[in-house]
Amino acid sequence: MTTVTDLSQPSESSIRDIVRQVISELRSGAIGAETAAPKRPSNAGKHGVFENVNEAVAASQEAFEQLERLGLEGRRKAIGHIRRISIEQCEELGRKEFEETQIGRLEHKIEKLKILGERTPGVEFLSSEVFSGDHGLAVIEHAPFGVIGAVTPITHSLPTITGNAVSMIASGNTVIVNPHPGGKRIAAEGVRLFNQAIHRDIGIDNLVSVIAEPTLETAADLFAHRGVKLICVTGGPAVARAALQSSKRAIVAGPGNPPVVVDESADLDRAARSIIYGASYDNNLLCISEKQVFVVASVFDQLMAAMERFGALRLTAAQVDALTKRAIVEVGEANHRHLAPCKELLGKDASLLAHAAGATHRDGLELVYGETDVSNPFVAVEQMMPFVPFVRCRNVDEAIDRAHESEHGFRHTAIIHSNNVRNMTRMGRLLDTTLFIKNGPCVAGLGLGGEGYLSFSIATPTGEGVTTPLTFTRQRRCTLVEDLRILGTATV
Ligand code: NAD
Repeated sequence: MTTVTDLSQPSESSIRDIVRQVISELRSGAIGAETAAPKRPSNAGKHGVFENVNEAVAASQEAFEQLERLGLEGRRKAIGHIRRISIEQCEELGRKEFEETQIGRLEHKIEKLKILGERTPGVEFLSSEVFSGDHGLAVIEHAPFGVIGAVTPITHSLPTITGNAVSMIASGNTVIVNPHPGGKRIAAEGVRLFNQAIHRDIGIDNLVSVIAEPTLETAADLFAHRGVKLICVTGGPAVARAALQSSKRAIVAGPGNPPVVVDESADLDRAARSIIYGASYDNNLLCISEKQVFVVASVFDQLMAAMERFGALRLTAAQVDALTKRAIVEVGEANHRHLAPCKELLGKDASLLAHAAGATHRDGLELVYGETDVSNPFVAVEQMMPFVPFVRCRNVDEAIDRAHESEHGFRHTAIIHSNNVRNMTRMGRLLDTTLFIKNGPCVAGLGLGGEGYLSFSIATPTGEGVTTPLTFTRQRRCTLVEDLRILGTATV
C-alpha cells in the first residue's frame, strides 16, 4: 500500500523545527529587530513644558506607565521632590509669581508655596477597604485614572499646581495643566524644576506638565483629548461651566463669595481679628476669603470699632461710594453683561483702594472696610480686593438670610462668629456650603489654625470638597470567594 503525503499540511516535525527556529531567533534578538513596531521616541528632556496638547498627552501617558512600574515608593519620591522645591525655593518662586501676576501680597505668595509643600496630603492618605464575610474577601483599592487635564487660576498659579501635582501623583496619576495665561511663566518654571529633580532621581520626566502658551482653545483640546481620563478645574464661573459641560468626568473647584455673619453672642474682638486676617490674606484672592459681613444691629457699632482698633481703615459713606464706582465695573456683551471687579484693582493693596476711595492711608495697611447697603455691588460681586462691606441687619435671621442670598448658591464657604449653637446650626443648614467656619478666619477651614488637611482646589458643584489624593482615584474591587479568609471552622 502506498501512502500519499499531503504537501499542503506541514508535518509535526516540520512545525517543531519552525517553532524552534523562531524561539532561537527571538532569543538572539534577530526577529525583534526586524518585526517589532518601532520604539516610540521618549519624551524625556522636555521637563514638562509643551507647546501643544498632543505632545503633552503622549509624554504624560509615557510618564504614567513608568510611574506605575515604580509603585508607591516611586510616587513617594516624586512628590518628595515637589514638596522640597516648594519649601526650599518658596521665596524665589513666590517673588517670581508676584512679579508676573502683579496681584496679592508677596509674603503670602511665599507662604502659600511653603504650606502647600508641607501640608498637602500624600501617599499616606490612600487606604484600601476590606469586606470579610462567610463568602470570602473583597478588597477595594483606589487606582489612578491616568492622565488628568487641569486648569488653574491666576490667583494662585504655582501653588495650585503644586497642591494638585502632589495629590494627583500620590494617587498614581500624571497631570497636564493649562494655566491661566497671566501666570504661565511661573507655572512653567515650577514644573520644569519639579521634573528635573524627579527625572534625576527616579528616571521619569513629565509627571506634571504645562502648556507653555495656554489659551481657551488649548483648554478645550485638553478637555476633549482621548488620552485625558479626568478633568480637574480650579477657577471662576466660565471654566466651571465649561468643565461641567465636558463629556468627561470633571472635578470642579468653582467660584465662591463667602459671607460672614456676626451675632450678638459673638466675641467681637476675635471676630474683628479673624475678619482682618482672612479678608486681607493675599489681598483677598483666596476663594474662601471673607467677602461681605452681615452684623446684628445691636453689636454693629462695637464690631466696627473693633475692626479699627485692630488696624483696618474705616471708609466714610462717600469714600465707599467713590471706591465702588472705581472698583466694580460692567463687563461682557449683551445678555452676558454683568458686574465684576475691575482688573486694575483686583488683588491690589489696601493702600491703593484707600487712595482710590480718596481716604488718607498709612503704610502697611492691610484692609479697608465700611458700612454699605445690601444693594452695594461689593456685597454680591466676588471682589477679590481687601475691601469688605459691612451690612447692618435687624437680627440674626435677617443676617443669615442675606448671607444666603449673597452666596448665590455656590455652596462654597460661609463663616459665622457666634456662641449661639442654634444660630450656627440654622446658618449651616441654610447655606449648605462645602466649608462652614465658626469663630475663626476662613483659612481655619483649610486646616490652617483649624483641624483638617489642606488643598487649594475645593470641589464645590461636583461635591468632592477639599481635594485629596483619594479624589483622583477610581475604585477597583477584587473579590476572592471563600478562600484566604482565616476566620471560620478549622476544617477546610
Ligand atoms: P478665571 O475663571 O478667570 O480663570 C480660571 C482659569 O480658567 C484660567 O486658567 C482661565 O484661563 C480658565 N478659563 C476661563 N474660562 C475658560 C473656559 N471657558 N474654558 C476653559 N478655561 C477657561 O478665574 P481666576 O481669576 O483665574 O481665579 C479666580 C476664580 O477662581 C474665583 O472665582 C475663585 O473663587 C475661583 N477659585 C476657586 C477655587 C476653589 O478651590 N474652589 C480656588 C481658587 C480660585
